Amino acid sequence: MIDRTQFGEQLREIIAATEQKIAGYEAAAAPVTPDDSIGRVSRMDAINNKAVVEAALRTAKRKLQRLKAMEANLDDPNLGLFKRCGRPIPMGRVLAMPESPFCVRCSS
Ligand SMILES: [Zn+2]
Repeated sequence: MIDRTQFGEQLREIIAATEQKIAGYEAAAAPVTPDDSIGRVSRMDAINNKAVVEAALRTAKRKLQRLKAMEANLDDPNLGLFKRCGRPIPMGRVLAMPESPFCVRCSS
């Protein structure tokens, strides 16, 4: 069994960190200004970086959704158990990869 109090605390810390990350990505993904002074090559770089940042932003937002869903369901008796096999999930893994509810064995 996982320690729900400790889990909830860590969950909230990760939620805050993820929200900060998202704010950073959103700032970085702001529209590239068509400013000639930065030159064509660096504008291409900016556009490439933007695609990378946008992908990271989507991933972070999905993760945040899962984390918040977990926070809302801290009383769920299945919290901390893998969805398919019901084996306990190592807490570090839940927090690092909230997007994968299946253990290595089940997802392979
Ligand atoms: Zn499993």
